Parts: sequence; structure tokens; C-alpha cells
Amino acid sequence: MALSNPARPEDPTLRSVRVPRRPRGEGQWALGYHEPLNVNERIKKDDDPLNVRARIENIYAHQGFASIDPQDLRGRFRWWGLYTQRKAGIDGGRTAVLEPHELEDEFFMLRVRIDGGQLSVAQLRVVAEISREFARDTADLTDRQNIQYHWIRIEDMPEIWRRLESVGLQTTEACGDCPRIVLGSPVAGVARDEVIDPTPAIDEIVRRYVGDKQYSNLPRKFKSSISWLVDTPYETNDIAFLGVVHPEHGPGFDLWVGGGLSTNPMLAQRLGVWVPLHEVPDVWAGVVGIFRDYGYRRLRHRARLKFLVADWGAAKFREVLEQEYLGRALRDGPSAELPAQQIDHIGVHEQRDGRSYVGAAAVVGRVSGELLTRLADVAEAHGSGRVRLTPYQKLLVLDVPPDRTESLIGALGEIGLSARPSAWRRGAMACTGLEFCKLAIVETKARGEELVARLEERLRDFDADITIHLNGCPNACARTQVADIGLKGQLMVGEDGRQVEGFQVHLGGGLGMTQGRAAGFGRKPRGLKVTAARLPEYVEQLARRYLAGRTDGE
Ligand code: SF4
Repeated sequence: MALSNPARPEDPTLRSVRVPRRPRGEGQWALGYHEPLNVNERIKKDDDPLNVRARIENIYAHQGFASIDPQDLRGRFRWWGLYTQRKAGIDGGRTAVLEPHELEDEFFMLRVRIDGGQLSVAQLRVVAEISREFARDTADLTDRQNIQYHWIRIEDMPEIWRRLESVGLQTTEACGDCPRIVLGSPVAGVARDEVIDPTPAIDEIVRRYVGDKQYSNLPRKFKSSISWLVDTPYETNDIAFLGVVHPEHGPGFDLWVGGGLSTNPMLAQRLGVWVPLHEVPDVWAGVVGIFRDYGYRRLRHRARLKFLVADWGAAKFREVLEQEYLGRALRDGPSAELPAQQIDHIGVHEQRDGRSYVGAAAVVGRVSGELLTRLADVAEAHGSGRVRLTPYQKLLVLDVPPDRTESLIGALGEIGLSARPSAWRRGAMACTGLEFCKLAIVETKARGEELVARLEERLRDFDADITIHLNGCPNACARTQVADIGLKGQLMVGEDGRQVEGFQVHLGGGLGMTQGRAAGFGRKPRGLKVTAARLPEYVEQLARRYLAGRTDGE
């Protein structure tokens, strides 16, 4: 013991004979660590979380909230898209000090996975009807192309699943340490400049692997993106396939791994391989297999795939993927071309079949069951049977005859969806925040709405693209670090010396190519924090300074 006593480092002779410490295991299954090293791992090992659905249907839905086993409630329920929501009236200052059961309500948040963001109007009607009947008319468009409800009662879950599944929708693995929704281009299959529609690969992954117990116990969540166009935030996903044309082999996909934000943000790394469409599901499963077997399970905050990729590097990751999981070499491939601007599909665009799609914005993704029902009516009245959700909390109506687009834009405007939004509405996103999220420190949705309204009033003609992402805590669900103005919720001391809600400001982040720059995280100018009350004024000042100082063409 004396040899490693830090109180005696000054003795050089002792330093030279110090016994090297055995590296501490990270809980990797592939290295033999099968005994759970924390409570989350224990819950998953004791019973596969997918099994909890039977208990919900057969026991909890009949016996009510009080009958729910706490390990199911706060652990396994997430595999079916269910989280308890925050009890009303608990301020952000108490988030870190209260026990989970003191923070939670008897109602649930429920996430519906809509892989690739693709919805038929018939599905949209069911989503809307569930909102009105079971979720107090709540429905948020998330930045992962999900629909999120609130106020769900456990008693209603069997009927909600029955209705969703009757139209081919599901909540399976919408949350939890498993393969979450697969992001896809909102214009897959219709875009003029798309060479391959990757929807068959997304469908195959969902069909084969979602709900498969081989992949239902991962170290943490696993986020995927598969798109020909660079119109998803691919760099922030655990795995991303981006469209690329190989000079010899033709169109296929460029593979990236290890992206993720939260408190230790990292951008995904290219493996330098080219994957044809039909191989995407197998390669995807190989990467998930590496994560399952080699991912770090000791500490939750080091369990995302990005930590393994950062430690191994792209070359070793590729080697393990090829040798241990695929049993063959992958072809080298070129890098995908990045667009000059973030593509959000707002406005009117021509499809490859000559019809049009129209992208429109609610404010910070907040809609309702009533609005979605009216959206279904409006879409159908304009000849459309399909709607798409975007990873920017916006939505698209597809297949509109070109001579009906102006009428559609007018009808969307009447229900609160703008196809010609201000820069502020277009670029704003907000996470769930204090209203419903148990981890939140500050309110986000209402503040986002207030911010957009104020900026539209004061700077209506602001003509630059700008993204503003409001987050209720450091978890960065609304991608704090990759916005022009990223806002991380925290408590701070107000002018009168009392604790108030506020935000740490990140400036100048972006995805893909933004204004000619490659993706990067925003800077945190030292000490730059703003109280929530002063936020509109702060953003307005920043925008005015930018307008006064920008160069020609900027
Ligand atoms: Fe909740 Fe924090 Fe995520 Fe917002 S960023 S939804 S407050 S966990």
C-alpha cells in the first residue's frame, strides 16, 4: 500500500518500483464481464425489458399505477416508449435533490417510433385520435422523427397499442438501451436528387432487429440514421449511412460511427468503407453487435458507442467489424459530398415525379391531436396521402399537384403550420423541458414559443438562416452543441440575487456543411450565460450585431 500512497511521491526510489495497476474493466461482455456492474445492468440482466409488455397488458393495466414494480416502472418500461412524466409544480432547483419517485407523476410520456419519419394519412389520423382520446390532446414532433404524447395512463396502453398496431405503427424500443428509431430523409423516394431510396434498408432493419432479444440489451441507447441526402443530423448518431457514388461500384453508402452529444459530445467518424444498399442491414447489425459485446457497461455516462470508437479509432473499429462480425472485408469507399447548407425542406419543392412536396413549421415542434386531424384533412383535400416528419421538428406534405400548392400553403397556415416561416420559427427547436421531463432544470417549449414570437415581432425580416436550440438540461436532447445559438438550461443567480432559470450559451455550432464550414461544436464564450427572462433581448441584440457586422454574401 505504501508504494501507491500519494502522500509519498517525493521518494524517487519508490516511484521506480511501483507496481502497475491492473486496468479496471469497463464491463465489456466480450472481455468476460458478464456480472452487472450497476443497477441498470442488473435490471436488464434480471429480465429482458421486452418482457414487460406482457405484464403491462395482463397486470398493470388492470391493477393500476400503484401495482407497477419499480424496476419495471423506471427501467424496463422505456423499451416500450414509456417514461413517467414530471409531476407538475416541481421547480428545476429540486431536480437533483429529489428521489425519482418524488419527481414523477402517475402519468406517462409515450413515444411512437416513426422510422424514416414516414406516415400515411391513415396512420396520421390514428396518431391524432390517440392524442385526443388518451393524451389530453398533446403531441410533440421530436427531433428524432418520433411523436411524443403526454398524460398517458397505464390503463389505456393495451388499447393504444391495438390502435397503433392496426395501422403498422409501434412503440417498441422507442426508448431504452436498444436500437431506437432509425432516422431517414423526409424526402426518401421522392427527392429529385436522390440516387437510391434507402427506405428498404430501414424497413428491413426494423423488421429484423427491432424487438429482437439479441439486440435488446445494449450498454446504452443506439441511434441510427440512413439517408441518401445529407438532411439528417448524421454526425450525432451512433451509426450513419450517407449516400455516395463509388467510381467503380456505383451508388451505395458511406459509413460513419460513434457520434453523440449530451455532456461529452463527439462527432461520428468515417470508417472509409462503401456499403451497397442490400448490405446495409447486415453491416448495421455488425456495428450493433460490436456495441453490445465491446461497449462499456460499468458507467452509464461512458456507455455510449462514441467512447469505444474514440478509444479504438476508426481503423481498429473497421477491423473488428470485418473480422469478427461480418467475416469479410468491406470495400474502401469515397467520402459523401456535403451540401453547402443544412437542408430542412421547408417551402415548396418539386418531386422527381413532377408533383410537389411542401415543408411547414409549427413552433418548436409543438402540435396537438386536433391539429394533426386537421392536417390529415388538409393533406387529403389537396390530393396527398402521405406526410413526413423531419429531424428538425418540422413536417412535410408529399405528392401535391403543383397547381394545388398555394391552396395547401393557405390551408396549412390556417391550422398553425407555416410553409413560409420566419427565420426564427424555421430554425428553432426545443426539447421537452421542465413541463414534463424529470431531468429538466428549466422550461423550454413555452420559452421557445415566446422567443420566436418576440423575434418575429422585432426582427420579422431577418434574412439569414439561423438555428436556435433550447435544452432543459445538459443532456442536449435538442442538440445544444450543433446550433448557431445552442442553449443549455441551468440555474443561475438573477439580478436580485435569487436563483432563476437561465441558459449557458454555445455559439456557432453546425452540422454537415454550414455556411461553407464543416460540422463543429459551438463555442462556449467564457461565462456567457443569460437568464431565461433576458433570452429574447439577448438573441435580438446578437442578431442585430450580426446584421450590422456581416460581410457581403454572408
Ligand atoms: Fe429532458 Fe434534458 Fe433531454 Fe431536455 S435535454 S428532454 S430536459 S433530458
